[in-house]
Amino acid sequence: MTLSKLMPVVHYVTLNSNGNNVYLVLGKRAAFIDSGDGTDGDTDKIVSLWRSLGSPHVDLIILTHRHYDHSGGAAKLANITGGRIASSFDEKSYIDQFYGSEVVHHVLEHGDLIDLDGALLEILLTPGHTLGSISIMYYEEKVLFTGDTILGDSNTTIMCDQGDMELYLNSLRNLQSYEIRLIAPGHGPVVRRPMVEIDRIIEHRLNRERQIFELISTQKNTIDEIFNSIYINLETELAHLAREQIRSHVVKLQREGRITSSTDGNIFHKVM
Ligand SMILES: [Zn+2]
Repeated sequence: MTLSKLMPVVHYVTLNSNGNNVYLVLGKRAAFIDSGDGTDGDTDKIVSLWRSLGSPHVDLIILTHRHYDHSGGAAKLANITGGRIASSFDEKSYIDQFYGSEVVHHVLEHGDLIDLDGALLEILLTPGHTLGSISIMYYEEKVLFTGDTILGDSNTTIMCDQGDMELYLNSLRNLQSYEIRLIAPGHGPVVRRPMVEIDRIIEHRLNRERQIFELISTQKNTIDEIFNSIYINLETELAHLAREQIRSHVVKLQREGRITSSTDGNIFHKVM
């Protein structure tokens, strides 16, 4: 079992089932950031970390967003550690619905401060991956926990039924105004040059948007035509995700009035 220590007050485990990182921030009291999916072995791993630190009082189990690989272990973790489950308002109903009862008992808002007596956390709303995704700043060391908003070694997905590309880009631009020394993501290794990575993601998304806009301008007018012009030989699951990314960009372009769609919403044209 790997129990790693990121810095004196930040501890984490990487879980087996989906490679999620679960963090424990420890002042005199503790807070978890995310909870894994609740697979027994994974919950054991998180609980072992907590016990190895002397079973500190847990104020909150903070969930970065609704997705089950981040939120599915929260109720078990709450039962064992006594921590209260917290999420943003927009994610609460999805998480409660997943459990079939109200489990989120603390709603987090932008700018909320959580004082663990020796570590201060600040909640930042960073919608985009999902509409209520949050990031959490460990204030003293300027470490930003990003959930799936920024990943350690891949680009996140923006599904248009759960997230929003325009909000995502705005969230990244807002993050550029913070001092961030290290990003601790929900999956993958820590990001040691946060501002370079945030710039890269914004540029990557804007390049893709330009590419999609140009394709629509040159008579690639459906999601499939755009997809086939950009990607070759993607596996089925990746192809589905890639189509969703295109769709999210198309929604943004439509909203900006740069393209229009046919009444059935399947054919897109550049606005002249
Ligand atoms: Zn997610």
